Amino acid sequence: MTIKRVLIAGAGPVGMTAALVLSRAGIPVTVFERDAGLAEDLRASTWHPPTLDMMGELGLVDQILQDGLIARYTQHRDRKSGAIAEFDMELLRGETDHPYRVQYEQFRFTRLLQQHLAAFPDCRIVFNANAQSLTQDGERVLLSVETPNGIEQHGGDYLIGADGSRSNIRRAANIDFPGLTFPERFYVATTAFDFGKVLDRLCYVNYIADTDEWCVLLKVIGSWRCLFPTPPEEPDAEVLSDAKTEERLQGVWKKDGRYDTEHRTIYNVHQRVAAQYRLGRVFLAGDAAHLNNPIGGMGMNGGLHDAINLADKLAALHRGEVRETVLDAYERQRRPIAIDHVNANTARNKRVLEERDPQARKRTQDELCRQAEDPALARAFLRKSSMIDALRVSQSIQ
Ligand SMILES: Cc1cc2nc3c(=O)[nH]c(=O)nc-3n(C[C@H](O)[C@H](O)[C@H](O)COP(=O)(O)OP(=O)(O)OC[C@H]3O[C@@H](n4cnc5c(N)ncnc54)[C@H](O)[C@@H]3O)c2cc1C
Repeated sequence: MTIKRVLIAGAGPVGMTAALVLSRAGIPVTVFERDAGLAEDLRASTWHPPTLDMMGELGLVDQILQDGLIARYTQHRDRKSGAIAEFDMELLRGETDHPYRVQYEQFRFTRLLQQHLAAFPDCRIVFNANAQSLTQDGERVLLSVETPNGIEQHGGDYLIGADGSRSNIRRAANIDFPGLTFPERFYVATTAFDFGKVLDRLCYVNYIADTDEWCVLLKVIGSWRCLFPTPPEEPDAEVLSDAKTEERLQGVWKKDGRYDTEHRTIYNVHQRVAAQYRLGRVFLAGDAAHLNNPIGGMGMNGGLHDAINLADKLAALHRGEVRETVLDAYERQRRPIAIDHVNANTARNKRVLEERDPQARKRTQDELCRQAEDPALARAFLRKSSMIDALRVSQSIQ
């Protein structure tokens, strides 16, 4: 079957990646983005090995490696005892072409995708275009889009809802989004202060457990991002205040003088998975389909795995290699991964960091140290934390 056009709601990393895979397969695409330009906010920065492998196939990985920071090691630390479990991702060599994480922010990635998509005249990215509602029949899907010129109707063979956590497409398709929102929110402060120079053996990706206040320290180009939980009762103004920010950062490393910060942001944190990923000609992908807490860096990575899985199927259908029923496998292959792997792993990562019972915390840290020191155990740990296992399970589902 020749696909005449695929509509995509949302020019985030997931929608734009789907657009690139489809464009490379010769399928005309229109991407509708609600905002006036690509998002510049600081969210994902961690790239896992299998996602880098996929980017290799799309011709993007060289630029990602050139502009990002290669993180060979990841660490799990205990703030009070100082114990460090350090995992060497080189152990994954042979399982992936990229045995490391890369720290490369998602706003750089969507810009890169926009440059690559410019080479495809049949790919249109329309800004200030708020996808609102849809209708569909056996032949086509019709999308209503609010633009500065009024409501427009656009038709396509299929629609991908990659319009993020508050997806209008999910709502318009009447698909439930069960799960939970944590009472606490996460606070991210970005500072140019070089924690690597003062904290012993710090690597680029550090999970630091603590009874009082756990944190995640991530190196990105030119800065460190420090992620902390915040109590539900703490008002936004207090979380974001100079005084509270200073207190939190001084807790990471007590230094003379104040910390300068470049960005401060608070996020709500959820664990949710859409009840369906497909309704007829409409598909959900990325944050529109699943949300998880960011500890472990799996949200965008998992969303990119969705985008490539779905777009590859549409491309095979377009080339006449498969029948339309192949599209049903998308939900079968991706939805259980969001529940059993991404949500399960990130929820466990959060529990480990926030464990308050000293004995339980020590047991976990001892176990992490034991795993890090044993190459076979470390490899098994890394296969799980870098999403290799999740993808293998997904690929084994028919
Ligand atoms: C603090 C933090 C750190 C994170 N770190 C990581 C990490 O290191 N690694 C990782 O894998 N993940 C991480 N994540 C998760 C990651 O940011 C998301 O999973 C990712 O942004 C999802 O991409 P997406 O394209 O599905 O959605 P989004 O990035 O939300 O993009 C959706 C796009 O759709 C647009 N849109 C919304 N509504 C409409 C509409 N009605 N019509 C048209 N357009 C619309 C939006 O403007 C936006 O451009 C992190 C998240 C947070 C909060």
